[in-house]
Amino acid sequence: MASATTITSFPSLEKALKHFFGYDGFRHYQRDIIEHVLKNRDVLVIMPTGGGKSLCYQLPALLRVGVTIVVSPLIALMQDQVNSLKDNGIAATFINSSLTFNEVRDREQALLKGEIKLLYLAPERLMSPSFWPLLEQLQQTIGISAFAIDEAHCVSEWGHDFRPEYRQLFQLKQQLPQIPTMALTATATERVRQDIVQQLRLNDPQIFVSGFNRQNLYYEVKPKTKQSYDHLLKLVKQQPGAGIIYCLSRKRVNEISFRLKQDGISALPYHAGLSAQERQENQEQFIRDDVRIIVATIAFGMGINKPDVRFVIHYDLPRTIESYYQESGRAGRDGDPANCTVFFSYADVATVDYLINQKPDEQEQRIARQQLRHVINYTESAICRRKIQLSYFGESFAGNCQNCDNCLNPVPLEDWTIEAQKFLSCVARCQERFGMNHIIDVLRGSRKKRLVELGHDQLSTYGIGQDHSVDEWRQLCRSLLHQELLAETTDGYSVLKLNAGSWQVLKKQIPVNIHIFKRAEAPKATKASNEVQLNADEILLLEQLRRLRKRLADEQSVPPYVVFADASLRQMAQQRPITTTAFAAISGVGKRKLEQYGQIFTNEIQHFCQSHNLTPNNIVSVPTATPQQSAQELTSTYITTHTLHKQGLSPSEIALERGLRLGTIIEHLCQLIEMGQDIDLNSTVSPERQVPIFEAIEKVGSHSLRNIRDELGETFDYNEIRLVRAVWERQNLA
Ligand code: ADP
Ligand code: ZN
Repeated sequence: MASATTITSFPSLEKALKHFFGYDGFRHYQRDIIEHVLKNRDVLVIMPTGGGKSLCYQLPALLRVGVTIVVSPLIALMQDQVNSLKDNGIAATFINSSLTFNEVRDREQALLKGEIKLLYLAPERLMSPSFWPLLEQLQQTIGISAFAIDEAHCVSEWGHDFRPEYRQLFQLKQQLPQIPTMALTATATERVRQDIVQQLRLNDPQIFVSGFNRQNLYYEVKPKTKQSYDHLLKLVKQQPGAGIIYCLSRKRVNEISFRLKQDGISALPYHAGLSAQERQENQEQFIRDDVRIIVATIAFGMGINKPDVRFVIHYDLPRTIESYYQESGRAGRDGDPANCTVFFSYADVATVDYLINQKPDEQEQRIARQQLRHVINYTESAICRRKIQLSYFGESFAGNCQNCDNCLNPVPLEDWTIEAQKFLSCVARCQERFGMNHIIDVLRGSRKKRLVELGHDQLSTYGIGQDHSVDEWRQLCRSLLHQELLAETTDGYSVLKLNAGSWQVLKKQIPVNIHIFKRAEAPKATKASNEVQLNADEILLLEQLRRLRKRLADEQSVPPYVVFADASLRQMAQQRPITTTAFAAISGVGKRKLEQYGQIFTNEIQHFCQSHNLTPNNIVSVPTATPQQSAQELTSTYITTHTLHKQGLSPSEIALERGLRLGTIIEHLCQLIEMGQDIDLNSTVSPERQVPIFEAIEKVGSHSLRNIRDELGETFDYNEIRLVRAVWERQNLA
């Protein structure tokens, strides 16, 4: 039979990418990986969630003779992927237990006729003896171009999701050694990687590991107080789009989803206490955008790949850093900004601690306690949250990430040497036989019965710490523990012990600086989402396009993101394309989508422009995704703006001259700056005003216009900030 060779010839892989998927460029390692696959090499791809793994086998599948067989563990995921592919006009199908006998037969026929490029299967079906004859027949007739093993960590007992069926997959290499195999996973640990290579008998595979940093995710931790539900509600109201709220118990899930509903938020619960059918229905409604929020126990999430989840909130403490990375990672798979929030309280720590003590196995307890320690470290830390997470996966991250609460609003260090001395000497006076709460009781002069019985109200340190709250003393104590200026027994009783560092503090040899969070503080504004950067008209149009997308999706019974990603709709709202050519330039519009949706979307946009008195756009504009365009590629609209700018016209004059909105001209100028064209900033923003804007950007980062404006105050407008920011980014981020 034919060896798998490249069939369709495109002038470049980029052209093929645009044709089939509508994207303007590859991400990270995608191109490298695809080139390897096209050379029939085995590869192992390790990329974080949302990195774009699927494309690495999908595009090669379309470029070669034969069918690519994709192994995927979950039926729901298969259906989802196949829907998305079909909506791009790609011949994909799945065979699984949800189909009738006749459906299976029809699909097998289609396969043998060579009508299918991608076949999705669960491992048990692929390995079942009854399937082998079909597999061999396929290989001998139309050819199998590759095996792609998705979620490959399932072969490893060391991974978080071991599936025994995956263990059988080594037979593929035994029976059909000539067919290249790709393994793909988002799991980070070295142990699991080795297991995958070995279990699947990969043949001298090239291993691609892309970093685990999810740049588009904003991480923050908020103190959990009595008013936390109000904070939660505020967060949910502030952030548009779909979100997941994780809680530890079913009771809490029910409570929160109920209260949210009472407060007019569309939310549904998801936990193991619901029937399988209810869970399925609630999940489906979430995926289809019929409900905005899912409140869930951690059981939710595996097996959905909704790309446009805009926020994940852990209302209770995550169990481990790794699980936090995976759960929070369900936000923003589409690469658009998304927020990840943890609500943290010591009361929760006590609850988890209690649960850990209930575990029968001591080794298990120890591991769980250590993991809890890591989580507390993460939540309490004043250093970059991203750095902490990545260091957990052995990846280093230096500097300011500009996208976590600690980097954007650094908590100042305060000198707490005197307080530390009081605290440590109190530990000494209590003869190193008590835990944190007792020490704080003594310092704050509590009248608790036990304390008095012990005679601790007679100690010289009794009542000398009333000037600070319990919370503040706790923060000091935890910080001393972190800095190893104090020790704690790990036998489950957490008795405080002095160490060498403690004595240095007591002897005034070293100062103690700590970050103190004031609990009364109102929650800081969360990072602005992309939509804030649209103007009012654009937001209205975006809403309208969303409704259109939802209608089209419902008609076909697919999730809305299958029709278009959020990023595509946003680009449409900004560029307002009303011709097919302009529409084709939108990222995410490939050949098939253009045919299927071009007319209906451009009509809608045209209609909107008419009723809102806006200028539509019939020019192909430069895709924002690729800023490094050369001058030749500048399209006419930019060139016109540029020419008028060079003639000395101000932005408003250019807008008037061209009959375009001022915002559009500013956008052009920013793009031109980004592309390295000579734009005279001084002629558009006076130098005296530039200085404070630059300073504000240095202070709060360039990511969010809203934050910069908040820093500057009302007297500055967004247009001038945009321009200065473009120059700053050009200088600092290029
Ligand atoms: P993973 O399987 O690694 O979690 P996916 O393959 O589901 O990630 O891709 C995540 C999202 O990114 C999807 O919405 C996908 O369509 C999009 N995507 C993938 N590659 C590109 C690209 N080159 N350009 C733009 N979007 C992409
Ligand atoms: Zn950071």
